[in-house]
Amino acid sequence: MGSDYPARLKARPRGYADTMGDERNWAGNLLYRASSIEHPESIDELRGLLTAGGSVRVLGSRHCFNDIADTTGSLIALDRMPQVIDISPARDSVRVSGGLRYGDIAPVLEEQGLALANLASLPHISVAGAVATGTHGSGDATGSLASAVRAVTVMTASGEVRSLARGDDGFDGAVVALGALGAVIDLTLDVEPSYQVAQHVFEHPSWDAILRDLGAVTGVGTSVSIFSTWQRTDVADQIWIKQRVPATRADAAERRAAREALAVSLGAAPAEGKRHPIIGVDPEACTEQEGVAGPWFQRLPHFKLEFTPSAGAEIQSEYLVPRLDAVAAIEAVRSLADRIAPLLLVNEIRTVCADDLWLSSSYGTDAVGLHFTWKPDEAAVRELLPTIEAALPASARPHWGKVFTLDGAEVRSRYPRWDDFAALVAKHDPERRLVNEYLERLGL
Ligand SMILES: Cc1cc2nc3c(=O)[nH]c(=O)nc-3n(C[C@H](O)[C@H](O)[C@H](O)COP(=O)(O)OP(=O)(O)OC[C@H]3O[C@@H](n4cnc5c(N)ncnc54)[C@H](O)[C@@H]3O)c2cc1C
Repeated sequence: MGSDYPARLKARPRGYADTMGDERNWAGNLLYRASSIEHPESIDELRGLLTAGGSVRVLGSRHCFNDIADTTGSLIALDRMPQVIDISPARDSVRVSGGLRYGDIAPVLEEQGLALANLASLPHISVAGAVATGTHGSGDATGSLASAVRAVTVMTASGEVRSLARGDDGFDGAVVALGALGAVIDLTLDVEPSYQVAQHVFEHPSWDAILRDLGAVTGVGTSVSIFSTWQRTDVADQIWIKQRVPATRADAAERRAAREALAVSLGAAPAEGKRHPIIGVDPEACTEQEGVAGPWFQRLPHFKLEFTPSAGAEIQSEYLVPRLDAVAAIEAVRSLADRIAPLLLVNEIRTVCADDLWLSSSYGTDAVGLHFTWKPDEAAVRELLPTIEAALPASARPHWGKVFTLDGAEVRSRYPRWDDFAALVAKHDPERRLVNEYLERLGL
């Protein structure tokens, strides 16, 4: 072990961190260099840790693949803090504490007849961590998870509690904030009446047909994912279509007809049985498919809470491009298929609706995400990424929580409000105690 191996690891936490080693991220590709990982159980304890001096960062559910959460000082996990899930009297929002995961709050909302508009591919991630990095699901009309945030409460490194609500000065910079403002102690999210979703999978759609009218493909359902291993460049592997169950039979018939017509136009066949995003992997961990309707939170994620999501041993990268650049971006990846395929577990293409959050990867533009789940060979992935990054349109924004090699100045240049964000960070953390190496590389 290196000399900076965590020296004061505390007893294993009771929360979601129970299932993981204390010192690594979920994927195991990062050993946190923190001198301690703390688990405060009250606001006062949290304040004591934040104001103790030295470098500090807050840790969520550890699902990032890079060192965004890391610090050489103290890491603070909020998973033992009091848990709050507080539905507003108007039943249009819910206030949740900073340590909770989507999988913790979704069943409670459902019990109350309420729902979120979107979820990521897995429910295991913390709400605060997902929002901090601009995490998203899929949907032409659905924003990133951060776009559901209507208020955020942060405890700064000096122990001061600051709340910002939608419309307040600085709010648009304080949501996707890379953990740079302080500990997010609670978030208020938009909610809506609960709804049901059914999931349909089609196999081997033609790439040429997809690229001729990408909008027709991504618009055919509430949430659409195109999966490819790039073993072949003539067809993608699968299209997953998640559809909110329409209110009337006529609407349902119309939706079914649209799906079937699209499948015919793409030369795709309905999957015979349940599928994993990676063909050949046991789909047991996946949420129900084959058109069986179920509650939103049991269909929007690809993976069930009680199973290890995704492939388990993997690392991930993702680039989001404006919709106008999407076909060029996919063609760029397609042209590199022979270099990408040997390292790839699966590529997923999704859509995200525009928002106004300064560091959101869909800031100011409807976006298409090109996500890569890689085999866990980070050195080889890092060797290939510059080639992919050079081939993608210059508008591509890397996912903050995944592996990328673009340099900080280049990343900054793709966010028109970067300087405003830097000013917001300076205001909240003048002593730069939350500025870690990752943020320094970005130029903070
Ligand atoms: C299997 C898998 C599937 C994934 N699927 C998707 C997907 O579908 N879509 C997508 O966009 N991304 C996806 N991701 C990426 C993931 O959503 C992001 O990495 C997200 O940030 C994870 O949240 P976390 O709490 O686990 O992050 P962590 O790594 O714990 O933290 C992330 C960042 O948030 C900050 N942070 C966490 N909690 C707080 C807090 N309370 N206060 C202040 N800062 C905080 C940390 O300091 C850090 O900067 C996936 C990751 C994995 C491993």
